[in-house]
Amino acid sequence: MDLHKEIYIPKPSPHDPDNNGHFGSVENGQVGFGGRFVPETLMPALEQLRLDYEAVRFDEDFWKEVDYYYKNYVGRPSSLYFAENISKELDAKVYLKREDLNHTGAHKINHCVAQAILAKRLGKKKIIAETGAGQHGVATATVAALFGLECEVFMGAKDVARQELNVFRMKLLGAKVHAVESGSKTLKDAMNDAIRHWVTHARDTYYLIGTVAGPHPYPMMVRDIQSIIGWEAKAQLDVVEGCLPDKVIACIGGGSNALGIFNHFLQDESVECIGIEAGGEGLDCKHGCSLEKGSPGVLHGQLSYLLQDEDGQVQEAHSISAGLDYPGIGPEHAFLKDENIVTYDHITDDEAMDAFVWLSQSEGIIPAFESSHAVAYLKKMKPEDVKGKTILVNLSGRGDKDMIQAQDILSDKFN
Ligand SMILES: *Cc1c(COP(=O)(O)O)cnc(C)c1O
Repeated sequence: MDLHKEIYIPKPSPHDPDNNGHFGSVENGQVGFGGRFVPETLMPALEQLRLDYEAVRFDEDFWKEVDYYYKNYVGRPSSLYFAENISKELDAKVYLKREDLNHTGAHKINHCVAQAILAKRLGKKKIIAETGAGQHGVATATVAALFGLECEVFMGAKDVARQELNVFRMKLLGAKVHAVESGSKTLKDAMNDAIRHWVTHARDTYYLIGTVAGPHPYPMMVRDIQSIIGWEAKAQLDVVEGCLPDKVIACIGGGSNALGIFNHFLQDESVECIGIEAGGEGLDCKHGCSLEKGSPGVLHGQLSYLLQDEDGQVQEAHSISAGLDYPGIGPEHAFLKDENIVTYDHITDDEAMDAFVWLSQSEGIIPAFESSHAVAYLKKMKPEDVKGKTILVNLSGRGDKDMIQAQDILSDKFN
């Protein structure tokens, strides 16, 4: 298969949710994860979006247009790189899927391009998005500029203050940034405000969600779009190794780069997919482990695992990497965890920083702090689980955005 010629079109997945967006069967009076937990006034807009997406989901014309921008604007297919030096060190074959080489430096541009093309086709004039640290906001502002759409980004006031550079990037790209002053002034409040804004503007506005979360159809749609990562990697690995990987590893914030690389391997019995949550300062301290330490609850219009206190108040997540500190997780991951289809584990801030330095100095590749969590897992696994194995790691993004923070944390080490 020549990936430079081939066009990616999603395929139905055995884990597709039902028409109400529930993953998994309805048992013992329990509903599946996902769904649409939004104000009644948003239901028509979401149902319309579900139908609009169903209409393009397997449509060659739509994906041809997406493919044009993937190849000419984003730089796809992204390379699958055999990491020689760490492979030698670990006595394994480690392949890195280089989403860090995409335009704007991460996998987020994939779903932004495809959703912006959908928005344009639906005749929308404006896109809105929420953002935590600003990475999704920047990717959204980028495609808004590309496709001539108006763009408004909702961001917690606290995040606006601590992520100055990304706020400037968004403004430079022509977007308007709303500093959200309610609640804890962070991501979850930005999400609430974006949903609230959409309620009254759904007619001409497309809400561009930045991960496999939110009300149906977003989790399925973003998963379909990001699955190009695993689709490419599977074909690329087949050319060089002629086999499937033994393990596929990815970090998890909301879960889009992970589902993107896992999706085409979930039916392969011999492949173990491993999702890595942010262990932060440790599991009895501050962290972002919604699956390992959370419980089912509603956030962002979906039922999924969630970090919450006894009263059901959403707790703030913590991770050294801004992209992983989301208190929830995409509902399909909640389903895959409960069904034992995917393995989930965590990596702490310190372990991630070690891996950040390790990959930089072993391969000359500076990973994003988020991606460093996936890389770190190569060292957390038992040596016998690594030795002689073919391991695919999703390098979701590059570390440029993390340089100032890295300099601060590592100043003792490199003075
Ligand atoms: C945003 C981000 C993530 C986390 O988002 P997912 O939806 O879990 O993929 C991971 N890596 C990078 C580089 C990011 O920017």
